[in-house]
Amino acid sequence: MEYKFASRMDRMKASEIRELLKLTARPEIISFAGGLPAPELFPVKEIAQVSHDLVLKEGQKLLQYATTEGRPTLREKIAKRMTEKYGTPVDMNDILITTGSQQCLDFAGKLFLDPGDVVLCESPSYLGALNAFNAYQPVFKEVPTDGEGIIPEELDKILATTPKCKFIYVIPDFQNPTGICWSLERRKKFIEVINKYDLPVFEDNPYGELRYRGESFPTLKSMDTKGLVSFLGTFSKIFCPGLRLGWIAGPHTIVEKFVMIKQSADLHTSNFDQGVADAYMDTYDLDAHVKEIVELYGHRRDLILKTMEEEFPEGVEFTRPDGGLFLWVTVPEGVSARKVFDKCIEQKVAAVIGDAFYPNDKTDRSLRVNYSCMPDDKIVEGVKRMARAIKECM
Ligand code: PMP
Repeated sequence: MEYKFASRMDRMKASEIRELLKLTARPEIISFAGGLPAPELFPVKEIAQVSHDLVLKEGQKLLQYATTEGRPTLREKIAKRMTEKYGTPVDMNDILITTGSQQCLDFAGKLFLDPGDVVLCESPSYLGALNAFNAYQPVFKEVPTDGEGIIPEELDKILATTPKCKFIYVIPDFQNPTGICWSLERRKKFIEVINKYDLPVFEDNPYGELRYRGESFPTLKSMDTKGLVSFLGTFSKIFCPGLRLGWIAGPHTIVEKFVMIKQSADLHTSNFDQGVADAYMDTYDLDAHVKEIVELYGHRRDLILKTMEEEFPEGVEFTRPDGGLFLWVTVPEGVSARKVFDKCIEQKVAAVIGDAFYPNDKTDRSLRVNYSCMPDDKIVEGVKRMARAIKECM
C-alpha cells in the first residue's frame, strides 16, 4: 500500500541515533551513548508507598480526567522550586505541566513555526529538540558556540541579516550534548541581543540542578525584562523520567497558547503521575534525593575525566563539565569521528557521533559521551577502549 503521508513526514527520517542505540545496546558493549539517569537512584520503595497511599486516599479523583494546566498543588510546588532552586520567581498560573519537557519542544514548534520559518539554535544542540521542530518544516540557523556558551555577537549578526526568525532554542546549563554552561557575561550579552530584536527564547533547563561544583548562574528567564523567555523544566533528571513530568514557566500569553495546544494534544498530563510526584514531595525530601544524584554523577564525572586525561592520546580534547550528564570529545584535525565510532564498536565501546547534533553543519570531529549511568569499573574500561580506538584512527 502506498500511503499519501503529509509532506512533513519526508523530513522525519528514522533517527540515526535510534539505530546507533540499537547497536550499542548489545550486552558486550560498554555504552556511553545513551543519556539515561542512573536507575539505582530511583526512589522505588518510596514511590510504591506514596502511590499506594494516594490511590486509597484520592483514587476516584486521581483516576478521573483533570484540568489541562496541571495538578494545582504540584504547580505550586514547581513555582516554589523555580524561586528557591532556579532563582526565578514565577506565578503558579504561568506554569503548565506537560508530558515531559519534550512535549514543550513540540508545542513551541506548533505555536511558532510555519514551513520555511527560521528557528535558531546553538551549534551543536539537543537532537530531540531539532527533531521536534523539524516536523514543522523550519529552516535551522546555527549560532556558533565556544567553551563559554553561545557567542552573542554571532547571534546579533544572524538576526541583523535573517528575516523570519521566530524563536531561539537554547540550553544554557550543562548543555546536551557538550556539557557546557554559559558564563554570566554571555548570559547578559545574550539578553541584550534578544531585547534588541524582541526575539522569543525557549530556555531548556533539565540539568541546572545537577551542578557538581561552583555557583549557579542566573537563568535567562530571571534576567528577562521584556517577557521574551519561556523556561522549560523537568522532573526527569532530578526524580524519574518514566513519570514524564515537565513544565513550562513562561510569559502568560505563551502559557495560555500552550494550554490551548495541550487541550487538543492530550487533554492533560497523567493525573496519576502528577499525584505521585506531588505526594512524594509532601512525604520525602526531593532536595536530599537530588543531592544523592549530584554526589554519584559528580564522582562519575571526576573518574571519567581522570581516566580520559590518563588514557587519551595527545591532541584529543574534551569538555570538563561542572554539571549534567554529558561531555564532548573532539578528535584532532584530520581524524574522522565516524571512523573513531566504528573502531569503538570493534573495541566494544560506544558513544554518539557528534554530527547528529548539528542540523546543518557537519564537522565529523566530535563524539558525545554520557557518564551518568555507568559503574566505576566500566567507566575506566570503556575509556581505555575508546583511547585504543582513537589511537588506531590517528
Ligand atoms: N531537553 C534536553 C536538553 C534533554 O536532554 C532532554 C532529555 N534527554 C529533554 C529536553 C527531554 O526531557 P523530558 O521530556 O524527559 O523532560
